[in-house]
Amino acid sequence: MTDINSNELLEHIFSITENLYKEMCCADDDVSDDHSRIFRLLTDLGRTLVNADRASFWKWDKRKHELWTTAAVGTGRITIPEGTGMVGKALAMRKAIITNDPYNHPDFNSDVDKRTGYLTKSILVMPISNCKGEFIGAYQAINKLDNDGRFDLEEDCRRLSLAAFICGITLESQSFLDDSQHDKLTELKNRMGFYNDYKNNYSKILADIQNPRSVSMFICDIDFFKKVNDTYGHNAGDAVLKHVADIFSRNSRICDGVYRWGGEEFIVILPDTNLKGAADIAERMRNLVKDSVCHFEDLDIKVTMSFGCEELNPMKSIEDNIKEADEKLYKAKESGRNIVIV
Ligand code: GH3
Ligand code: MG
Ligand code: MG
Repeated sequence: MTDINSNELLEHIFSITENLYKEMCCADDDVSDDHSRIFRLLTDLGRTLVNADRASFWKWDKRKHELWTTAAVGTGRITIPEGTGMVGKALAMRKAIITNDPYNHPDFNSDVDKRTGYLTKSILVMPISNCKGEFIGAYQAINKLDNDGRFDLEEDCRRLSLAAFICGITLESQSFLDDSQHDKLTELKNRMGFYNDYKNNYSKILADIQNPRSVSMFICDIDFFKKVNDTYGHNAGDAVLKHVADIFSRNSRICDGVYRWGGEEFIVILPDTNLKGAADIAERMRNLVKDSVCHFEDLDIKVTMSFGCEELNPMKSIEDNIKEADEKLYKAKESGRNIVIV
């Protein structure tokens, strides 16, 4: 597609927007709610509107300080540090940038070209904001197919604005969803994140009777945490919560789920782990916490934790499984704390 007439262009746009509408209406329960198919369609809409060969949509993950995309053709997920590349530049400047001579542009990174054998000749990057004017992502269109292969900053941004606007709203809704599933203090997933992961992931592992796999969990609670707050103040208590959360995150596998269940209570879900395995991991975590020191201002604070372990019974509801683990945690508290009960 190089030169397209208005009718053809409208047909393309209608076909993409029809799919977008269907995507929203048919979002069935089995599909993960990561908006990825919507972003793919919106990327295609943007590409069509500016008549570019390729397009990608970049998300700014402010939690991890990186920019990432999956939409680039011929590559997997590409991740770059925030502030780098053409996308980072456009976001930092909070305005759209183009180049029709990328190999002489100081911010162009030719790594993807080198890896895939593609030749980038022109680039347009348009940053995207949420309704509060905070920039949260960017559109990138590559290799303009008409106009002698040259992007026009004003005209192409005007064309891209509809797709960019919808992308901003979609990204904002995804960010809200993501924020609602995370705890601001520890940056762990919260109870809502736990139930979402259970529905999309762990419950499916447990329900697969053809391929039986163990899933275990432990629930744990900081001992005498109220005393930490009372002795050193609430900010010190917050620092201890972050300290413990970091120990769990750093010492877990990628497939494990670490959640702040509430207050000073945490849950860790361990796929492909039986009860004995979970007990060993809980014991290791208990020792790591016990032997660590939380440095806060000029204080060195030490805490211990109590643990209750359970292998998830696929015949029981998640609430009942958690209740069983919780009863063991209660026993751990009763029997003196700083202990794992299996
Ligand atoms: P136990 O060993 O039986 O668990 O005793 P505990 O003192 O740890 O338990 P208790 O339930 O009496 O106290 C928990 C305290 O945790 C009370 C609450 O104020 C504090 N807490 C809950 N969430 C937070 C938080 O986000 N930050 C801080 N600093 N404290 C919190
Ligand atoms: Mg406690
Ligand atoms: Mg508690």
